[in-house]
Amino acid sequence: MLPDVLTRIEKACRQAGRNPTEVKLIAVTKGHDLEEIQTAVLAHGHTILGENRIQEALPKLEAYPNLDWHLIGHLQTNKVKFCAGFSLIHSIDSPRLLEEIHKRSQTWLQTPELLLEVNMGFEAQKHGTTPNEAPELLALAKDLGLTVRGLMTVAPQDPELAQAAFAGLAKLRDQMGLEHLSMGMSDDLELAVLAGATMLRVGRACFV
Ligand SMILES: *Cc1c(COP(=O)(O)O)cnc(C)c1O
Repeated sequence: MLPDVLTRIEKACRQAGRNPTEVKLIAVTKGHDLEEIQTAVLAHGHTILGENRIQEALPKLEAYPNLDWHLIGHLQTNKVKFCAGFSLIHSIDSPRLLEEIHKRSQTWLQTPELLLEVNMGFEAQKHGTTPNEAPELLALAKDLGLTVRGLMTVAPQDPELAQAAFAGLAKLRDQMGLEHLSMGMSDDLELAVLAGATMLRVGRACFV
């Protein structure tokens, strides 16, 4: 339930000595239809939603165009043209994606803001740029006039590795002078809050 997730976030913030207003919950609605989203998320007045696949997301964005939709999953260059309705894309991991967003967004009413997805290197995970390459992506985004708000990572399942990944991402965010840290999901949101997350992407826990 979404209220339970908010309670967990508040508790974690208290333990970390952080203000809960610094931590945004992205309710991840993948795998759930409009009715379930209405009951589990919208009925609680929550308006920031995340989807990880474009094909699944588009009809939902169409049904609820006034919500704050984030794309959190891997984005292929040939799907960029469908991204106009997202306010934030969490999964930028290549120069080609940046160039395509720059090109396509010329005709959009609003250009989504961006996070760079970083693979912190604790597992052979397919997506994300390396920590070494992230500053080059940031520089390219700036050259193209695109707005990068921060970094995102998908952490390993193992809590110790997750903790190391979160700490590493926070350090990189500081080095790069960015604001947001999108990290932490249903199972590890407390660890992420402790490590400084400003955006939590929580799916399952919002729906049980
Ligand atoms: C599904 C998903 C989440 C949410 O995961 P839960 O374990 O359901 O909370 C977060 N981030 C990404 C990229 C996802 O695909």
